[in-house]
Amino acid sequence: MRSDEQQLRHAVVAACRRMQRLGLSHGTSGNISVRCGDGLLITPSGVPYDKLSGEDIVGMGFDGSWQGKLAPSSEWRFHLDIMQSRDDVNAVVHGHPLYATSLAICRREIPAVHYMIAAAGGATVRCAEYATFGTKALSINVLDAMRERNCCLLANHGMIATGATLERALWLASELENLAHQYVISLTIGHPVILSDHEIETNIALFKNYGPKKI
Ligand code: 13P
Ligand code: ZN
Repeated sequence: MRSDEQQLRHAVVAACRRMQRLGLSHGTSGNISVRCGDGLLITPSGVPYDKLSGEDIVGMGFDGSWQGKLAPSSEWRFHLDIMQSRDDVNAVVHGHPLYATSLAICRREIPAVHYMIAAAGGATVRCAEYATFGTKALSINVLDAMRERNCCLLANHGMIATGATLERALWLASELENLAHQYVISLTIGHPVILSDHEIETNIALFKNYGPKKI
């Protein structure tokens, strides 16, 4: 096994433990994948995160073939389809966090209630239509909800966040849950005010240069 693959395997295990610490997954729910060579590395199905080791991470080809002693996540289809259809995406994080999932149960998309929605890539976070977990039908619905977006909700199920790196995908997953939390609380207070599409476009442009600068 190449050393960069070994490093990625350990990075996936660390990301799983972080996802759990951040409250983005409950029990063995959720799964994580990262692009690796001509395929991807993905968490195995149903293994508790505290028991997970680098060797347990499953290597998959884009044809759906896999190697290893454990079966890949039951959601390998949407991980693989997202990665194949988006060359800007190198990591996919899926979880069932409380607030994003509660909105998804009500089949509500998240509107532009905070400028941080710009991190999602547009003025809404869509909710993918319901389909049974692990099916091709769910993957098709996910790709539709992810048009020009970096994340989405999954009806009666949870959320997905993607990124150019594992760190970025996990960051977005956490931001999405925070946004969902803010939206739910603002709904309980009264009538959230929605920012305009133009304002979100401005924020998306500003985000391109946001962050510490090297001098
Ligand atoms: P896996 O354990 O098979 O990855 O399934 C968890 C899950 O969240 C299914 O949607
Ligand atoms: Zn799930």
